[in-house]
Amino acid sequence: MNDALEPVVAGVDLGGTNVRVGLVTAAGSIRAFRSASFDAGRGAGPGLRRIAALVRTCLRAAGDPPLVALGIGATGPLDWCSGRIRNPYTLPGWKDVDVRGPLEAELRVPVRLENDAVAAALGEWWQGAGQGARSMAMVTFGTGIGVAVVRAGEPYRGAGEAHPEAGHFLVDPSGPRCYCGTQGCWEPLAAGPALERLAHESGDPDLAGATAADVARLDHAGHPAARRVVAAASRHAALGLVNVVAAYAPEVIVLGGGAMGAYRRRLDEMRAIVAGSQPYLPPGDTRIVEALLGDHAGVLGAGYAALRPAREVPSS
Ligand SMILES: [Zn+2]
Repeated sequence: MNDALEPVVAGVDLGGTNVRVGLVTAAGSIRAFRSASFDAGRGAGPGLRRIAALVRTCLRAAGDPPLVALGIGATGPLDWCSGRIRNPYTLPGWKDVDVRGPLEAELRVPVRLENDAVAAALGEWWQGAGQGARSMAMVTFGTGIGVAVVRAGEPYRGAGEAHPEAGHFLVDPSGPRCYCGTQGCWEPLAAGPALERLAHESGDPDLAGATAADVARLDHAGHPAARRVVAAASRHAALGLVNVVAAYAPEVIVLGGGAMGAYRRRLDEMRAIVAGSQPYLPPGDTRIVEALLGDHAGVLGAGYAALRPAREVPSS
């Protein structure tokens, strides 16, 4: 360890197939960054050792700065208070796993666990599209729809410290059945797989087997069936945003995730739907913008989550 270097925290963004690790300074600069494939199915023990090894690789790459804490944003559900992941859905084999204890023992620094949607929102609030906002919602249109709300740098938490699951807002009761058991949730109507489902249902031969990225590309090229698919999905995406505004009245909504490749060109239409649906909130009171940090949002937000308790610890 080199004490002459600026201290850093490690931010970890853990998904079912990929893990990203970055070293973050108190000012929000990333000193080293690694992205690696991750096989959650191999189990928690090997997974946590891999994370610790990636942190050490980053430390070596940055010249061995002092590591003061680690934050980890993981795909939910998880218990933020106890530092345990309870997630057999997207992290198979990680049911009721203590993440904090083994990593603290391995790296000898305090470890803080967050939901990945919360971590991405904290990252965008701290260093990205939500900078300066007193209240911000981040919506990630990925495989699902993640929503996290940040107010004055603090993530909103509900009963049992749970984060909102606003991807399950009811948007169209005649819509497809959601895995949560409800019919017509926002997520199956507007997350990335919705574009693929609508493409398949269109019956257009050009859209057979199309991915969300294919649909976006064909829409951009003016393909009529692809345009109809993106128009339908982006309308549902906007109706969910109407609910976000009604529920949280955020100053800014930051939009991210892979499906933004399709929605980017419809942003003005989506903004118009939101503005036309909330007479109590004058149009323009909620800005709707794109995320700025990409793959770095989760790492920066996990780092931010780790920094705050580290700052609160009195030096001895
Ligand atoms: Zn649902």
